[in-house]
Amino acid sequence: MVQIKNQLISSTPYSHGQNNQKLYVTVHETDNNTRGAGAQNHADLQSNGNARDAAWHWQVDDKIAVKSFDHSFSLWAAGDGSGNGNMNSIHVEICVNADSNYKKACENAAELVKKIMNDEGISASNVVQHNRWGGKHCPRKMHDGNAGVTWSQFKNMIGDASGNTGGGSGGGSTSWTKVTGNWTGQTLGNGEYGEPVKQLQTKLSNNNPPFYPNKGANNNGIDSYFGDNTEDAVRRFQSYYGLDVDGLAGTQVYNQLNGSNGSSGSSGGSSSDVKWVGTDDKGKRLEAIASTVNYYDSQRWSNPTGQFHKGQGWIIDNLYRVNGSLQYRVQNSNGDLYYTTARKDLVKVVG
Ligand SMILES: [Zn+2]
Repeated sequence: MVQIKNQLISSTPYSHGQNNQKLYVTVHETDNNTRGAGAQNHADLQSNGNARDAAWHWQVDDKIAVKSFDHSFSLWAAGDGSGNGNMNSIHVEICVNADSNYKKACENAAELVKKIMNDEGISASNVVQHNRWGGKHCPRKMHDGNAGVTWSQFKNMIGDASGNTGGGSGGGSTSWTKVTGNWTGQTLGNGEYGEPVKQLQTKLSNNNPPFYPNKGANNNGIDSYFGDNTEDAVRRFQSYYGLDVDGLAGTQVYNQLNGSNGSSGSSGGSSSDVKWVGTDDKGKRLEAIASTVNYYDSQRWSNPTGQFHKGQGWIIDNLYRVNGSLQYRVQNSNGDLYYTTARKDLVKVVG
């Protein structure tokens, strides 16, 4: 078991009080590559009155896990206002300092998360990435999946049995369920095989950017079998586009793969399903990084009101999920409000 140390802080301005219902564990990374910026260093930062407007319960590196706050605190860590992320989640920061072994830090984090799950009665399905609560790219390395530990590998470490048999990558006892026909948005999941799965895998691989089931493998893993690799690709795809990250390929994934890049309005004039998400980036500038990005005068994805050109942008006011995809509300210099995509390949937050 990873060494655990308590360095508890009794109060902080960065909390919504002490009524945390402890429904979730949220995993973060510090994004701080500085040598020496490990768990003890981050715990000290919090003890000394963190200059950032944020707080978290735990920090863990390749050697030690340090607890800063009792789990009863509802800490400002998720960027979702008074949503479940801030109010009812326990927050764990994985340190990514250059002199820490990232893989070992993730293993320690998994041990710590399992302990928290046990202590508080939280199920593996409620262990989530910070990204779940908004558009923030966190935990960055795990989310990108190219630093040695992917999110699905982390979920395996904590014993998430929501996928298939045992969750292990080598377990060969999966019994496959055959699915037929074409994939038209019906939900596909781990343990299924057949033509619809192949169509899903092909679309994921042909997406820009591609999300290969198994990059470098024969045909990049397009094999008609929805196993752990394909589930991981679906999760990465969902996370990238701000969809609900559940590893299942259903309507949301289908629509996103079929080019609803915020311009083609397949949902016509029907009313939009809008959920408030909230953002820490209010007041920052949102800038187009694609050559053109549509904006709208209401919360919809069809009939754009106008377009930003590359480098143009307005000020972020709020963040919503509209028909399953993240959408910023932005304000121009006249104070008028408009809506535009939060896709990271189309826009970026500046400042
Ligand atoms: Zn985070």
